[in-house]
Amino acid sequence: MELVTGNIGWIEIVCGPMFSGKSEELIRRLRRARIARKRVQVFKPALDNRYAHDEIVSHGDQRLPSEVVNGAQEILQKLDWRTQVVGVDESNFFGPDLVDIASQLADSGKQVLIAGLDTDYLGRPFTPMPELLCLAESITKTLAICMRCGNPAKHTQRLVDSNDLIVVGATGMYEARCRRCFEPGIPKQELMDFAKPQRNSM
Ligand code: ADP
Ligand code: ZN
Repeated sequence: MELVTGNIGWIEIVCGPMFSGKSEELIRRLRRARIARKRVQVFKPALDNRYAHDEIVSHGDQRLPSEVVNGAQEILQKLDWRTQVVGVDESNFFGPDLVDIASQLADSGKQVLIAGLDTDYLGRPFTPMPELLCLAESITKTLAICMRCGNPAKHTQRLVDSNDLIVVGATGMYEARCRRCFEPGIPKQELMDFAKPQRNSM
């Protein structure tokens, strides 16, 4: 009897705030895939023009060659059919299209590794991560160090004044914050419907 060893595809996610080591972890996994002699292709969005054009770069300056795409659809166009492992960094720049593309790739036998932010600058779930997490076989959540207090940080604090969902930037424009130190623009208390004492009733 012949052993059936066809390629099984899957989706692996690394998510968390900025500076939490997502790119480092993605690079580590992709390097290991190369050591295992798998054919690897890595994609990053053209919007992410922070460091190098043709590499994914971590904040600790680890680097891995990558191809630039203008959207999730372009990943399919640039994919060599022999590729076994597909890496995608900065999922949050791709928007909802990445969900279908990742599923199609996994269904066709590719191992899909995706890294990206899970929450935005206001602490809200960041498309397309919520759906990707539901569809994935494996999920890793990375935490950074809070720049205020040193505790584990799950938030990306925006330090510049903008209400745009995507503002490309790194150190100086963003920092990691824990739940307690995170300030999403509007004071949290004002979002809650707490009873407020009348000024002249005290
Ligand atoms: P991400 O992809 O999640 O933004 P990177 O992999 O690019 O993260 O960078 C992680 C590296 O960033 C760490 O190994 C560390 O050297 C550096 N770093 C800078 N600020 C912080 C922080 N606040 N918490 C943890 N690591 C930080
Ligand atoms: Zn803190």
